[in-house]
Amino acid sequence: MLKIQFEGYRLTSPFGWRIHPVHKTRKFHKGVDLVVSPSNGPLYAFVGGEFLHAKMGVTGSGFGNYGNTVAIWDDMGYLHIYAHMSSVSVTVGQRVKYGGKIGNQGSTGISAGPHLHYEIRKKTSPSFGFTVDESGVVEPTQYLINYYRQQPTVDKGEEPMTAEERDGSRIWKPHQKHKRNGSRLKSQGGVCALQRLHCR
Ligand SMILES: [Zn+2]
Repeated sequence: MLKIQFEGYRLTSPFGWRIHPVHKTRKFHKGVDLVVSPSNGPLYAFVGGEFLHAKMGVTGSGFGNYGNTVAIWDDMGYLHIYAHMSSVSVTVGQRVKYGGKIGNQGSTGISAGPHLHYEIRKKTSPSFGFTVDESGVVEPTQYLINYYRQQPTVDKGEEPMTAEERDGSRIWKPHQKHKRNGSRLKSQGGVCALQRLHCR
């Protein structure tokens, strides 16, 4: 659960129209710029998902000028892009949980200085959903707020138990012990009464 959004980062440029820091022209900023210290500080996933891209973004890929880029496909089908990284420490096809390390901040590609450009695209294809205008992206801060509202609250690093696992610890395991000893089962009426599903 994201307790404080972008904790540890300085938000240096919001989503929306702005004068581009390198081109000096009016351009739509399709993500947010975040800065951590030191300049090559570690970056962690804001959402869990699968890596669809984890290398230098080349022209035509959908990540031209983005430098070293990691893209995570979340479970709602949106693509989370981490651009301008100095290094990437993950590989395509791997899965990550919220808070997993993905690499380090940098200034690769077209960038005015070390920062993380974080962008969320609506599509993952073609070319990773690249669009020239603002219609292909969403505002990241609001997206994350909505995203975590829709997710069950789970402690960092802890997976929720599935129904099967819950049954396993409460019913199935103790019963298995009895099952091996069928004759003793009848004498343990109390246990069977509690576990009517399995004891006859
Ligand atoms: Zn940016």
